Amino acid sequence: MDQVVPVQSRPAPGAAGLPGAARAVGLSKVYGSGSGQVVALDNVDVRIPAGRFTAIMGPSGSGKSTLLHCLAGLDRPSQGSVYLGDTALESLSDSALTELRRREIGFVFQSFNLVPTLTAVENITLPLAIAGRRPDRGLLRSLVNALGLSQRLRHRPAELSGGQQQRVALARALVTRPRVVFADEPTGNLDSRTGADLLGLIRHFVDEDRQTVVMVTHDPAAAARADEVLFLADGRLRDHLPTSTVEQVLHRLAALDQGRS
Ligand code: ADP
Ligand code: MG
Repeated sequence: MDQVVPVQSRPAPGAAGLPGAARAVGLSKVYGSGSGQVVALDNVDVRIPAGRFTAIMGPSGSGKSTLLHCLAGLDRPSQGSVYLGDTALESLSDSALTELRRREIGFVFQSFNLVPTLTAVENITLPLAIAGRRPDRGLLRSLVNALGLSQRLRHRPAELSGGQQQRVALARALVTRPRVVFADEPTGNLDSRTGADLLGLIRHFVDEDRQTVVMVTHDPAAAARADEVLFLADGRLRDHLPTSTVEQVLHRLAALDQGRS
């Protein structure tokens, strides 16, 4: 793989400092073997600050989803370590990892991934039902109200718009009060207006509840809503940008592209 000079010579995020909500150290992920081998992540160090909204951008195939899945304990690294708070995920058995994920991680997918046979409220409370926990009624009500879902709770996913389905998925991710919510292109299947509404809601939960959110996105306008944008290319962390405008994100993406050619 070509060595690319970072377009900015700032220290990489996560190189030092506090533990953060989640952290990867020397994280590599290799899929397959022999000539079919793909290096999806190549020695990534990153720290996700608590109570902040972090966006991850990069070309298709640059390792964004793999990074998110490794940070969320959905996939195991080939090398390196992932920490959720102070817990090294590699130290956990599969069942302990599943348990930790249920308690501490929320995940929002591009394709909503709701259970079609369950109503909205049943989908929202599913993670609690699986864990044998009762929903906190006050929290459930405030989530449902904040997400504008109170009139839709008895509807099944097929009876909901895309935006409503993704708001149900966001409520499902938040209902356990997780340490971190990960979202992989959560606005990718929404029109721009509906996507902007969802981003406003994510911003609300970060600002009001200090919810930690990590979001992969292709959309510079979505990334510009975050507190920090990380840029991946070819499985490596190439750059990062603090709170930024759409133009700054576009400029950085263009620089990233030049760096690769
Ligand atoms: P992104 O989300 O940035 O588009 P991914 O993390 O999905 O990128 O993929 C990074 C690289 O790893 C790509 O080359 C992809 O084809 C490869 N990859 C991802 N998942 C798998 C898998 N399960 N098996 C083999 N290769 C994979
Ligand atoms: Mg992806």
